[in-house]
Amino acid sequence: MTPSLALLDDPLPSAALFDPSVDLGPAAVFRGPEDLVRFYRASAGTAPLLVVTNREPVVWKGEGCLSLPPGGVSQTIHRLLSRTGGRWIALRDSGGPDGLRVPGEEGDPGYRLDRMEIPPALMEGHYAGFSNGVLWPFFHDEPSRISGSVEDLAAYREVNRRVAARILESLRETSPALVWVHDYQMALVGREMRRMGGSLPPLAFFWHIPWAAMPAGEGVPRWLGEIVTGLLSYDQVGFQTEIYRDRFLETVFALFGSRATWDGETLSVALEGGIRRLHPGVFPISIDPDHFRMMARDPANLLRARLFLEDLGLDAAASPGGYLVSVDRLDYSKGFLERLDMLEALYALDPSLLGQLSLLQVAPSTRLSVDAYRRYAEAAESRAAEINRRYSRGGWRPVVTVSRSLDPSLLAPLYRLSRGCLVTATRDGMNLVAKEFLASQDGGSSPLFVSRHTGTAMTMEGLSLIDPADPALSARIIHEGLCLDPLRRQRKNLEALAFLREHNVYRWMASNLARPLLSSSLRPGSLARPA
Ligand code: UDP
Repeated sequence: MTPSLALLDDPLPSAALFDPSVDLGPAAVFRGPEDLVRFYRASAGTAPLLVVTNREPVVWKGEGCLSLPPGGVSQTIHRLLSRTGGRWIALRDSGGPDGLRVPGEEGDPGYRLDRMEIPPALMEGHYAGFSNGVLWPFFHDEPSRISGSVEDLAAYREVNRRVAARILESLRETSPALVWVHDYQMALVGREMRRMGGSLPPLAFFWHIPWAAMPAGEGVPRWLGEIVTGLLSYDQVGFQTEIYRDRFLETVFALFGSRATWDGETLSVALEGGIRRLHPGVFPISIDPDHFRMMARDPANLLRARLFLEDLGLDAAASPGGYLVSVDRLDYSKGFLERLDMLEALYALDPSLLGQLSLLQVAPSTRLSVDAYRRYAEAAESRAAEINRRYSRGGWRPVVTVSRSLDPSLLAPLYRLSRGCLVTATRDGMNLVAKEFLASQDGGSSPLFVSRHTGTAMTMEGLSLIDPADPALSARIIHEGLCLDPLRRQRKNLEALAFLREHNVYRWMASNLARPLLSSSLRPGSLARPA
């Protein structure tokens, strides 16, 4: 059925239909944080969740003052823990004490945040060295940008070992229903926990980034076996898409041969210490689309966005054809150079767009301690300057770049007021910006053009796909999309939004937790009891 504008103002069908004793069925509905909290309580009872991430969910601003950085996923986990209690362990990013009580609202219990101090030299090897110098480029199919050393791998192991030791320490004080570890900076934490011994709750892991295809012959890096064996230590490893999960399985089979078997649910691998069994699952991450719809509609936010655009010379008088928007950290995997090639190809295809349609790139810098990022930022800046030199006329500029991070309450109306959105990543685990744009359109007709190499393109139907490897073809697709009948564009947006409202971040989180929480509630002596 084609969703109508009216439908979007109705609540989703009521009654969360989940049954905590089985995996989430397709009928499970999560309208918002309330449903997620009810799901958690029904599945885990009073047993807390222990979450482990590289970055902190809050920023310390001084005695008694914490702020919440933007970041939909981290905020969703934060809300669940605030409501249900629990513990969060993270490497610290700001000042203040090592242990913080993050308060909940209106009688909610809040949770304890353990903030780990890692010495700068160790952190440099772990974060800039191995995580972002080796793992990130390898799994984003950018082998030429790999830059780590053997010492960096040692630092990575050591930080993972320290995190594991901190988790075990906390298990002496609390009995969580589940330990949920996140992302590529923490792949070895589970292995280290098992090495240290003792009885453990279920361990779940979510791999947020892509999984690369197994390289041929000589191309297999030596560290890959260690990372894969590390992941086998968890009871569940979640991936963003089936493609990434299947590539992981192929890597396991390539490394372990007939010692590995997979029955479609459980992967079993015969290791020296015995057989490891785990569930490699597919859980495409998402956003809270209603939150973005609200932010994009809010009159104060819209006014702020209009003033912001005026300051940038992108108001209707200065840029009569409006602007295409892109929002990405300045990362080489986001396809900045390819996007600028597309823009040039678009102008070549339809010169009447010159003097009319600009590109607004929100591009906060990132990971500048890694050489490859500094070099890429320079290249992207100089390519944008070249296009501006070539095509600017009067007060009009083809490329307007904002180099600082913008708050989601400003991004949402900027998405809404745009003529379209370009997502040009050469490889992306998911890409939340694409989903935020669709939610912020909220019945509008501006089209999304999304790279086919993103998890979003792989897991949503009916999107206009472009390919950063082929800027000329992408420019034609963008041009056609911009010329399409507005009613058809609107219908496409509404269909995508209806999908997102069903497959939102709350459902993502519940589907990650469902299976491990069930196994936790079945363990003898477990505190977790389904309600
Ligand atoms: N973002 C933001 N302000 C900015 C740029 C980005 O809040 O100036 C947010 C953006 O809204 C999105 C996230 O950062 O929620 C980026 O997520 P995405 O999956 O697109 O890419 P990632 O940075 O995780 O690779």
